[in-house]
Parts: sequence; C-alpha cells; structure tokens
Amino acid sequence: MGRNRVVVYPDWCKGCGICAAFCPKKVFAVGLDGKAQVVNEEACVNCGFCEPHCPDFAVMVIPENDVPETPEPAPTEAKEETL
Ligand code: SF4
Ligand code: SF4
Repeated sequence: MGRNRVVVYPDWCKGCGICAAFCPKKVFAVGLDGKAQVVNEEACVNCGFCEPHCPDFAVMVIPENDVPETPEPAPTEAKEETL
C-alpha cells in the first residue's frame, strides 16, 4: 500500500510556517534553516490544505494513488561515438 508523498521545495519556501501551523496531521516543521521540512509524511491524509495555502507554492502533495509503486527507470543518455 502506498502513501501520499509530500514535497517542500526549499528554494521557494520562505519559512512562514503556515503549513506547519495548520496541517491537521503535523506533517511539517520549520527547521533551523528557516525552511519547512516534511517530518511526518506517513500521517498525511491529503486533506488539501497545504498546497493552496502556501503563499509561495512551495508544497506539493502527490496522492497515494498517483505515486508509482516502482520508480521509473532513469532514461539512458544516448552515447555519441567519437571517431
Ligand atoms: S507555507 Fe509554504 S512558504 Fe510557508 S513554511 Fe510552508 S512551505 Fe514554506
Ligand atoms: S494535505 Fe493536509 S494532511 Fe497532508 S500535509 Fe497537507 S495539510 Fe497536512
């Protein structure tokens, strides 16, 4: 059984703490670096709060049904033969 994936993009996060304060499952915490961190991903119930309320669009929640069971194989780079 999968679970929701919760991702914070640190480059966009300004550490306002809205996600940490209002997530009903305490999935987030603001770290010493001033960025939100995902500390309790397994508790996420995909309530839909965090994504639209992050003022910087720094949060993404991927519902468990959309998380692939196995990662896609990495694309192999075409190798150019040098003559
Ligand atoms: S609501 Fe967005 S900007 Fe604010 S701490 Fe959370 S991820 Fe960062
Ligand atoms: S979707 Fe809801 S439960 Fe999941 S991390 Fe966001 S606010 Fe928390």
